[in-house]
Amino acid sequence: MADSSPIRLIIHGGAGTIKRNKLTNEREHAYRHALAQSLIAGHAVLAEGGSSMDAVIAAIVTMEDSPLFNAGKGAVFSHAGHNELEASIMDGATRMAGAVAGVTTIRNPIRAAQAVMTKSAHVMLIGQGAETFAAEQGLEIVDPSYFYTQHRWDQLQKAIAKERVLRDHDADPGTPLPGVDEKRGTVGAVALDRYGNLAAGTSTGGLTNKRYGRVGDSSIIGAGTYADNRSVAVSATGTGEMFIRTAAAFNTAAQVRLQCVPIAEAADNTLAEIAAMGGDGGLIVLDMHGNYAMRFNTSGMYRGTIGNDGIAWTGVFPETGTPV
Ligand code: ASP
Repeated sequence: MADSSPIRLIIHGGAGTIKRNKLTNEREHAYRHALAQSLIAGHAVLAEGGSSMDAVIAAIVTMEDSPLFNAGKGAVFSHAGHNELEASIMDGATRMAGAVAGVTTIRNPIRAAQAVMTKSAHVMLIGQGAETFAAEQGLEIVDPSYFYTQHRWDQLQKAIAKERVLRDHDADPGTPLPGVDEKRGTVGAVALDRYGNLAAGTSTGGLTNKRYGRVGDSSIIGAGTYADNRSVAVSATGTGEMFIRTAAAFNTAAQVRLQCVPIAEAADNTLAEIAAMGGDGGLIVLDMHGNYAMRFNTSGMYRGTIGNDGIAWTGVFPETGTPV
């Protein structure tokens, strides 16, 4: 049955120093195709009357399963040669939230985050405990070798050789964090369903060559992920430490709810705070009327959106992209 209530899904696949001359047409097409697949998967849920939460899960699982992004299959390696994954999710209607960090065997960490939210009394589980919980919930457990890709392994060897901590995507060795290179491919999604409910989720492998059980913003509610029907749903990507220190996702939502700041401006204010600390990245933001913003202060952010018309829009660089 036709329904005029707005539905909307926004996704990102990481922000960073993406150089035009380093991104071949073929590679750009591959990324945009993968983004479009994610948008189509999430849109199918929303168009059938599904919830924003299920749309976020569908969109993120698609990107976790793609080796192109630094989440799930194709995640970056830690210094010890492991893929240590993290993810978080939040429901804007109830402000229920779930997160996992430091997991190495859960095929789709975003599903584990959802299970923590819906099936436990907790918000965040880490390491082996999170894996045991995920297995008990019937989630797919894989051998850690499932996440291996040659490309990421080579990135680790380069990072070790240079003694750097690398984020995905960035071609430029210049860095806002000491000892850190700019390569990011974290994925995230925010959605609005036809019932007016918002949801947000984020998933990542974190940083290449990370050590000591480092956890970033992506699994931290209020930093990498936030959703509140009274304001907006937000997912972040960028220099995680600064996103934690600015409570970036909550900060953006709070400006909208408490100060009535327009959503794009709220995102820009948050990114300016992060820039003042020497960090950078991007935010996707969506309100319950379907207004949205995809803001970043890096040279590019893999991103896309889809609404009632079902036309997937994807883009990488600041200029307007074209529907795919
Ligand atoms: N924010 C992520 C982290 O710090 C990195 C990224 O966005 O790619 O782990």
